[in-house]
Amino acid sequence: MVVPHQLSMPAASGATLPRELPGPPPRSTSLARVPTLREVTAALDVLYEPGRAEAWDAVGLVCGDPDGHVERVLLAVDPVAAVAHEALDWGADLLVTHHPLFLRPVHGVAGTSPKGRVVHDLIRGGCALHVAHTNADSADPGVSDALAAALGLTDLRPLAPQPDDPTDKLVTFVPHADAGRVLDALAAAGAGRIGAYERCAWTAPGTGTFRPTEGAIPTIGSLGAVEEVPETRLEVVVPRRLRRRVVEALRVSHPYEEPAFDVYELAPGDSPYGIGRVGRLPVGEPLTDFVRRVAAALPATPAGVRAAGDPATQVRRVAVCGGAGDSLLDAVRAEGVDAYVTADLRHHPTSEARERPGGPALVDVAHWASEWPWLADAARRLTDRLARQGATVVTRVSETPTDPWTLHEGSAR
Ligand SMILES: [Zn+2]
Repeated sequence: MVVPHQLSMPAASGATLPRELPGPPPRSTSLARVPTLREVTAALDVLYEPGRAEAWDAVGLVCGDPDGHVERVLLAVDPVAAVAHEALDWGADLLVTHHPLFLRPVHGVAGTSPKGRVVHDLIRGGCALHVAHTNADSADPGVSDALAAALGLTDLRPLAPQPDDPTDKLVTFVPHADAGRVLDALAAAGAGRIGAYERCAWTAPGTGTFRPTEGAIPTIGSLGAVEEVPETRLEVVVPRRLRRRVVEALRVSHPYEEPAFDVYELAPGDSPYGIGRVGRLPVGEPLTDFVRRVAAALPATPAGVRAAGDPATQVRRVAVCGGAGDSLLDAVRAEGVDAYVTADLRHHPTSEARERPGGPALVDVAHWASEWPWLADAARRLTDRLARQGATVVTRVSETPTDPWTLHEGSAR
């Protein structure tokens, strides 16, 4: 049966797009501070750091006046014409999309091309466009966290973690009485931060010894005489990018003419950032039930959900990747999960993965549907972040299905 897009609902599809949307909210009153576009994009950049985007990606502000004000923010997966019209019809001041409008350089944005038309329409309607793409994939929490949460997965960690930010360990030796002051100076320069804690250090008492020679101007001791000083061994972590600044702070704050110190480069660990997520269901279930769970959790699309694997396979540990995830099949296999949920799985990678014994069941969903759950999460986090700064925006998740497929027919034989 051929069904039009609007009628195509996968079996057991419980989660659908909002059917009835409230009318446009009233414009802000004088009590609500309306942020500038600059403030809103700065908040987005904190949630989805541009530096975590892949090198080939194109994220950030596409069009919009940073000094303009933003009352209404529409969030969508794709910056296509229908979404731009939805934004303008609703009176949005900012459209935030996951996919870039332009991924390759262009020489113009004439209204004669579909993408140029979007730019023209948005600018004419006073609506900015901002993209959070692979930086939203790698964020903590990011696109795949929202997908995993929609499926009921817990204990999440990245499937392909980015390495931790490069970190050094600085060790120095300070007379006891000066240790606190030197630590204050190192902390002020950015050393000693671990998670939500600052001025972190480890200390131990010991004895420093030295003999000042010709030309020295010793703080303690005299020329030619061996000196022994009770000292504190002081250890702090230092972001590598701040090494020069922290060492300078050490030299300025340390009482000695020639402070002794060591800088060690620490081995990189896994960060909470990265593509995809691995988690588990509270209770294992057969693949058939799991596929129904996936279909119920995501918005309806013509193709629905398909799977490769034994229907009776028990699924408990699951990997997910919002968007096209076949490049992570090796990482998925190394995790030893029972199932992998992603989009755009192609014939050969899927076939080869299934030919290998012990591989996970593969669950293929629509690209758009796999990333759609992130929109509501991003909207809530953006609203919360701006509220903490005393600014208010109204957000809305796009109701326009932008899955490009519009028909589906089950094969007859
Ligand atoms: Zn995508």
